[in-house]
Amino acid sequence: MDADTFRHAMAQLAAPLTVLTCYGPSGEPIGLTVNAVCSVSASPPLVAVCLNRSNYSHDMVVAARRVCLHVLEPGQEGLAFHFAKPIDRFAGVSVLHGDAPELGDVRLRILCTPDGVRDGGDHTILLGRVVSVVSPEEGDGGGLVWHRRGPVDARRSA
Ligand SMILES: Cc1cc2nc3c(=O)[nH]c(=O)nc-3n(C[C@H](O)[C@H](O)[C@H](O)COP(=O)(O)OP(=O)(O)OC[C@H]3O[C@@H](n4cnc5c(N)ncnc54)[C@H](O)[C@@H]3O)c2cc1C
Repeated sequence: MDADTFRHAMAQLAAPLTVLTCYGPSGEPIGLTVNAVCSVSASPPLVAVCLNRSNYSHDMVVAARRVCLHVLEPGQEGLAFHFAKPIDRFAGVSVLHGDAPELGDVRLRILCTPDGVRDGGDHTILLGRVVSVVSPEEGDGGGLVWHRRGPVDARRSA
């Protein structure tokens, strides 16, 4: 299997656009865009997030006491790109400080306790046990996906 064929096939899989945040060891906010995210189990409530081992934030996210997954909506494509750039990602962004930094502009937020890691090749698969969900209304929030190398509004066909 050559890498291009693999990447091309994987680009056909739509994935949710999220921003993962936590605090670093000195209490500094950490945040990065992740789309390798999925629901794993309802009992206990577990999600999985795949983190590139070469990310600057990798060890800090894995060691964090809490992480927050922000599920982006159509119109928040800019946030997805912002949290993948080498800039001060929290400057000018509304942040609520709690167990993890929460982005006030993202309505659906999933707070998790890291619950172990698995080897995933050049990525680490981080399991997160969901401890609380901030959601405007049931069924609301989310709907921005990454598909064929770009952001797509998954609600258009809903
Ligand atoms: C649509 C999309 C989906 C993505 N999905 C995923 C995903 O599922 N999983 C995933 O892992 N990534 C994913 N990424 C990539 C990820 O968001 C970026 O690689 C992001 O930049 C990683 O953030 P980081 O904070 O770890 O920083 P890095 O990009 O590793 O570094 C950012 C900045 O941190 C500083 N820095 C870096 N190293 C050091 C150091 N040693 N000391 C001091 N400062 C340093 C520098 O200022 C650097 O510019 C995705 C990106 C996009 C756009």
